Amino acid sequence: MEHRTLGRTGLSVSIVGYGASPLGNEFGTTDPAEGVRAVRRAIDLGINYFDVSPYYGRTLAETRLGEALEGVRQQVILATKAGRYDRGYPEGFDFSAARIARSVDESLRRLRTDYVDVYQLHDIEYAHREQIVGEALPAMHRLVEQGKVRYVGITSYALHLLADVAAQAEVDTILSYCRYDLADTSLQRVLAPLARERGIGLINASPLHMRLLTARGAPDWHPAPRRVREATARAAALCARRGVDLADLAMQFALANPDVATTLVGMSKVRHVERNVAAAGVAPDPALLAEVRALMAPVADVAWQEGLPENHEPDAVPKGD
Ligand code: NAD
Repeated sequence: MEHRTLGRTGLSVSIVGYGASPLGNEFGTTDPAEGVRAVRRAIDLGINYFDVSPYYGRTLAETRLGEALEGVRQQVILATKAGRYDRGYPEGFDFSAARIARSVDESLRRLRTDYVDVYQLHDIEYAHREQIVGEALPAMHRLVEQGKVRYVGITSYALHLLADVAAQAEVDTILSYCRYDLADTSLQRVLAPLARERGIGLINASPLHMRLLTARGAPDWHPAPRRVREATARAAALCARRGVDLADLAMQFALANPDVATTLVGMSKVRHVERNVAAAGVAPDPALLAEVRALMAPVADVAWQEGLPENHEPDAVPKGD
């Protein structure tokens, strides 16, 4: 497994990272025993970066990941989050300093550990940026001083917001999702230059565009506009005709970006772990890649509206539109 350095943290992270949201049944009910096997298999195959949140499965994913990492926690780099706890707005969010201080202790208990390597504010597009910069990030940095977390990060779908906050405040990592893959490569334009300049570790989540870039396709709740969903279905059909799994091509494409330290793919099954690890270090077939990119070109980089209106991406369209 290839490793890259996570910005100035100096952490050496596997280019395939383990996204634990499926352990919280975010994509449908999963078998807990298979989830434990998937985590163990991932470690055996060289994955050392694990990402979770109290939001995933409303704490279920943290609890299951904590169980699965029992006895092997020291072998991995563990990342979790604070600020998002449920779906609805505003009730699902709390970026106050008091909640963050409580949240870390709750996460440490569920994860069965006494420190988190990377602690991130979860989906900051659901907060006013003054609160993120003036209250939430200072609260996160106090946890570093207390030894409960090692590094501090921010996560969001909204790339411009991430870039603005990272330019104003001190963050070690930035995570964005669905913004560097076969459907959208905006991360490269909006975040990569800033991350390089400031030594910020870049984490690319959802390289399968939250399952859109798979033969199975999107879950019901998927926010992508209909034309994006239709184009990815055509891409899956094209790949199938060529005897290729679109998910393999999508992973190979995402993993090839050297500006991204680790690419987080959501997994709860051993077979997906093996498949995604196998994609690392394999160059995508250039002819097929060119065909898929051409097919996706009319809907490339179409962003949906996520979070507070003040934080929407420029030109974003309503969800599912
Ligand atoms: P993803 O694009 O990684 O897709 C995951 C889905 O694809 C799951 O249903 C999984 O079972 C399926 N899958 C995985 N490998 C497959 C394969 N080889 N073939 C077919 N299907 C496969 O989306 P995701 O899980 O949302 O994102 C990955 C991780 O990134 C999350 O688990 C989470 O840890 C992180 N994330 C963070 C944020 C945030 O912080 N705001 C947002 C999104 C994702």
